[in-house]
Amino acid sequence: MQRFLDLLEESDNCVFLSGAGISTFSGIPDFRGSNGLYAKYDANKIFDLAYFYKDPAYFYTHAREFIYDLDTREPNLIHRTLAMMEKKGYLKSVITQNIDLLHQKAGSLNVIEIHGSPATHKCLSCGENYSYNDVRELLEKETVPRCTKCSGLIKPDITFFGEMLDETAITNAIAASSKADLFVVIGSSLVVQPAASLPLYSLKRGGKLVIINNMATPLDEYAYLKYDELGDFFNHLSSYFNE
Ligand SMILES: [Zn+2]
Repeated sequence: MQRFLDLLEESDNCVFLSGAGISTFSGIPDFRGSNGLYAKYDANKIFDLAYFYKDPAYFYTHAREFIYDLDTREPNLIHRTLAMMEKKGYLKSVITQNIDLLHQKAGSLNVIEIHGSPATHKCLSCGENYSYNDVRELLEKETVPRCTKCSGLIKPDITFFGEMLDETAITNAIAASSKADLFVVIGSSLVVQPAASLPLYSLKRGGKLVIINNMATPLDEYAYLKYDELGDFFNHLSSYFNE
């Protein structure tokens, strides 16, 4: 742990990349684990754009249980520690693959959501914008939220299969990674793009890579430090930041 703390103290530009592995601490199912969402729901349907057009109720019915229930979920020690580190100037930004809004709920300010976000929604017919809370309210009355202007289908700005990635988010993620002299991957197996290649931007400019994940990743051989236990790691790290 001391070796990591030394890196952190030396670093002028530390960036964290978080994946689904950190959310399991908050009771949110990991997408790819054995109890993952993809075991419970049909992965080919829930985030598939073509299927969403055909049967939006499938997404919204399930999404009530893991997206539109933010008031019942609390950020865990990991989210809180990262927010504290940002506040104290130890990290510049958190790039996340997660769509659970928990970094923001914990107080992180600079969060780059590379798979999009349910914080904003759009009507697919007229383009009207809706916030997370707008849609929460609509969902209290109907199974599928409809545009109050034109009755069009409302979709969260989460990147579905069959959709282009959010260009602004990707540009910001690449810019942040390219500047990072310390790049820390937590709870991501680095198998899904664009997350998989982001550490390379930091490595290319001479940054140090640290990976904390209970599974092997394709970039383990490039890691300056590798830890397996996220929970242990953050128990130690949080005590350092007087949480
Ligand atoms: Zn509309």
